[in-house]
This record gives sequence, C-alpha cells and structure tokens, in this order.
Amino acid sequence: MSDAVTASPAVLILLGPPGAGKGTQARMLEERFGLIQLSTGDLLRAAVAAGTPAGLAAKAVMAAGGLVSDDIVLDILKDRMAEPDVSAGVILDGFPRTAGQAAALDQLLADQGRAVSAAISLEVDDEAMVGRVAGRYTCATCGEGYHDEFKQPARAGICDKCDGTEFKRRADDNAETVRERLKAYHDQTAPLIAHYRRMGVLETVDAMGDIAGIASALGGIVQRKAG
Ligand code: AMP
Repeated sequence: MSDAVTASPAVLILLGPPGAGKGTQARMLEERFGLIQLSTGDLLRAAVAAGTPAGLAAKAVMAAGGLVSDDIVLDILKDRMAEPDVSAGVILDGFPRTAGQAAALDQLLADQGRAVSAAISLEVDDEAMVGRVAGRYTCATCGEGYHDEFKQPARAGICDKCDGTEFKRRADDNAETVRERLKAYHDQTAPLIAHYRRMGVLETVDAMGDIAGIASALGGIVQRKAG
C-alpha cells in the first residue's frame, strides 16, 4: 500500500553528487509516497533527444560534464512544475544546482504561498562515485537502474521490473566526465547545503550504505516532513 502524502503538496529536494543515488531514491519515494520525481537531467536529455532549441544549446555542455545555464534549466523546470500531476508533491532530483536556481525556486514557491519542505543531502565519498557512475545503465523501457558490479538483473539481459530487454547507458557516465561533474557539484551545488541549513529545512543522510537502508532513512524524513 502506498503511504500517500496528504498535507499541502510537499517539495523535497535531493542534493548530492553524481552517483549518490538521487535518481534511484527519487523513484522509490515516488512509488512509496505517490510524489512526482522531477529530474532536470531527464528533462534536458529529453530536450536533447527531441532537438528543441534548449536541447541543442544544452547538448555540448552536458557531454562535457558542465552545468547548463540557469535560464534554460529554469524554463524547463517551470514548464514541468505547471503540469497538473505535480500537485501531488514533488521530489526534485538534480535541481537546484546553483545559487541562482535555488533563489528562483524559493521565489516560485513563495508566489504560490509554499516553501521547500526538506532538502536532503546524500553524503558520499567522491572516489566511490566514479566507480558507481561509470558502471551504471538503465532499462530503456521503464528506466529501472542497474549496475555492472552492484546490481545486475536477476535474469541476465531481462529487466526485473518490466521484462524489457533493451538497456541504455548515458553518454556522460564515463570516468572523465564524472570528474568534471563532481567538480561542478563541489563548486556550484554543495554551497546550497548551507542555504537550506539557514532555512531550517536541511536533512543529511549517509548514502554510502545499501539502497534499502538509505530508502528507509529517506522514507522516515518524508513522513516527518511531508506526511
Ligand atoms: P543529471 O541527470 O542530474 O546527472 O544531469 C545530467 C547533466 O544535465 C548535468 O551534468 C548537467 O550538464 C545537466 N543538468 C541537469 N540538471 C541541471 C541543473 N539543475 N542545472 C544545470 N545543469 C543541469
């Protein structure tokens, strides 16, 4: 049974470097609490695949592991936040990533009489992240995440969730680009931890352990903050 969140729509932020498990955990919270996972990385990859002007502008920056401009990201994010399904509450995965994005989000929510419910920082070791990211892949049909070393499908080549047989790897999930993405995280995103601490909404979770244990810690926070 899902633990649907019933209070005013929650806005949860998952902060953490590439490989910290934001996407995996956001998907699990989505299933458990009926919240909507909103990943600016996924939205940007869709824009790149569709060849939109935003996608064309973002493509090279993403391939190099840099951050796409705030203007582009905010346009994409605002469009998505205007869709009706997000009224269930959202888990922001990979957004905000800069001080400008965080300020814009605070303003967007304030205009609606809302505020960030919790910003959860997934605490991990950088070096382990390179190995985690370089081996990961997803089911092309349902998006379930796998890893060459840590999480293979139970039946080789067949997705555990949907029986799909096509898998894909992200172009930017290689050791060299991950190091650039880690640098971008430390330079531009990690300072947001202090921003959310000042706002009194920061939570931290040790994210070096097993997926189920981290999910349980996050579930506890969501129940406390948004239940
Ligand atoms: P992710 O899927 O979150 O790892 O994002 C993949 C890539 O998309 C990042 O390395 C950035 O190039 C870009 N990206 C995603 N979200 C943002 C954001 N909020 N601000 C700037 N760039 C972003």
